[in-house]
Amino acid sequence: MLMPVRCFSCGKPVAEHSDEYAQKISKGEDPAKAMNELGVDRYCCRRMMLSHEELIDDIMPYKRF
Ligand SMILES: [Zn+2]
Repeated sequence: MLMPVRCFSCGKPVAEHSDEYAQKISKGEDPAKAMNELGVDRYCCRRMMLSHEELIDDIMPYKRF
């Protein structure tokens, strides 16, 4: 789904980096290097970035309005 706004463990805002992180990954950059450049240095926050999967486009056709 959507990237959580804050890290579940420490509460640091992580969603503000998600777009730039996705751009860097799509260009083939190493995830560790991309997170270092964005200032995401705690391992609890890094797992938020690494484990996120964008599923909103897969789920939207089945949502009732
Ligand atoms: Zn954290």
